Amino acid sequence: MRPVKQAVLAIDQGTTSSRAMLFDENGSIIAQQAQTFPQYYPADGAVEHDPEDIWQSVLKTSRAMIKQAESRNISIIGIGITNQRETALVWERETGKPIHNAIVWQDRRDAELCNSMKKQGLEEMVTSRSGLLLDPYFSATKIAWILDNAKLPGQPQAAIRKRAEAGELCFGTVDCYLLWQLTGGRVFATDATNASRTNLYNIHDGDWDDTLLELFNLPRAILPEIRNSADDFGTTDGNILGAELPVLAMIGDQQAAAFGQGCFSPGMIKATYGTGCFILVNSGAEPIRSKHRLLTTVAWQLEGQRCYALEGSIFIAGAVIQWLRDGLGILPSAAASEAMAKRHDSNRGVYLVPALTGLGAPWWDSNARGAIFGLTRDSSAEDLVRAGLESVAYQSHDLIRAISADGISPASLRVDGGMSENDWLMQFLADMLNMQVERPRITETTALGAAMLALMQYRRNNPDDAGQRVDPQRDEPQRDDLWHTAWQQAPVSAYRAFVPTMTAHSRNSLLSGWHKAVQAVLD
Ligand code: ADP
Repeated sequence: MRPVKQAVLAIDQGTTSSRAMLFDENGSIIAQQAQTFPQYYPADGAVEHDPEDIWQSVLKTSRAMIKQAESRNISIIGIGITNQRETALVWERETGKPIHNAIVWQDRRDAELCNSMKKQGLEEMVTSRSGLLLDPYFSATKIAWILDNAKLPGQPQAAIRKRAEAGELCFGTVDCYLLWQLTGGRVFATDATNASRTNLYNIHDGDWDDTLLELFNLPRAILPEIRNSADDFGTTDGNILGAELPVLAMIGDQQAAAFGQGCFSPGMIKATYGTGCFILVNSGAEPIRSKHRLLTTVAWQLEGQRCYALEGSIFIAGAVIQWLRDGLGILPSAAASEAMAKRHDSNRGVYLVPALTGLGAPWWDSNARGAIFGLTRDSSAEDLVRAGLESVAYQSHDLIRAISADGISPASLRVDGGMSENDWLMQFLADMLNMQVERPRITETTALGAAMLALMQYRRNNPDDAGQRVDPQRDEPQRDDLWHTAWQQAPVSAYRAFVPTMTAHSRNSLLSGWHKAVQAVLD
């Protein structure tokens, strides 16, 4: 019997959970399953994942989707992977066994090393090549730490470096590790977006950079091949996954969200409001060097052509709501923040700077700490909650102002993530940015981005299968077509545009209160 439908399996491997989802050929979700896994905090500032937890959660949820597809007579045409970025793994080429836990992007253990490199004046060289900063956030210092600290039974520590140089060890970000596992160790590759987060990748040449490898004292022999974000990444091992499926796309999670949000032209911008907030703006075919400490990164690479982005992140966005709810206990639920913020018709002079773990772009001050300003005897829990929500909009304003100062002026902002459900916050954001804020019909933009890229690759490989509207030689019309179809399928009710209504006088007065508060906490 001919399968009734075709679907793409999207694997979204995140920081706290792994999800597998089935998207039909129009980009609509037909099934999904998620599984959380443990976080390890072995020392102050250190965050690790057990690679086996990552792998088993991906395997279990993906197998469940394959079963679902079988039972519903759906044929899976391929896999798209999107993943937490920068997180570093090192494993043995022969056995596939990791030599240490994964060091997660949030991990700060190499902060001192990065500071001392900065003091030696090395940051300019790093930024000019990789587009990034000297910060423990990126993979390079994490890999070096693993090579210098992993312990293998029966082997002296010094042997690890020698084995790395001999090509007996592999480094990969999570996409690369999953691909290796899924293909039974047959394919060792990553995509350009993930490579661009390591601090070892030359953003101009699109290849690993020998000068950066030397600086971080890492051998080229451990690095994977770099491919397009939509590409032929090999076929999964049927004995492992239970099906032989082509892997057709790999892309870092924030880039995938920008793709799923349809930010295809220069100047288009998206913000994902989860625990933290990540803002990415499409900067076109040439990398832009930020004058305001924003990151230059690859948005995606298709058929050897790179599209670039500028990126900034806010460390504490939804996390401020978590802190008000679980830390202070003044908020019954995240959703309740909306009604509490509306209780008074102004912020009554209260500002909260949520520098709980320092401040991200454009301030990049890891020593700054949080503070509350403007309290009176009359101040209430509602004022604090409102100040917490407002802080997310103010931080977004500062970031987008930095993007404008770098020469890109977006016309509207596309938002997603858990916090974007908060209508009051989205309206306040539109007022602070003085810009339309758009919440899409599809909230699963990250997985959608990976699924769209996989579909594009499938259609390129199978032009006959694709229907008449697709030209396999040209990605752009195909991509726009796919995106519009996916958008049209989704419920209209989820979409909302928030239009700014605040006067310039009110906006400026609020922003000036915020900036006074920020100045007071900067180190
Ligand atoms: P992550 O992917 O980082 O886990 P999510 O996109 O799932 O994050 O969003 C969850 C975050 O959003 C939490 O920090 C939560 O406090 C916040 N959040 C969820 N709903 C709301 C809401 N209605 N108002 C404000 N914050 C919210």
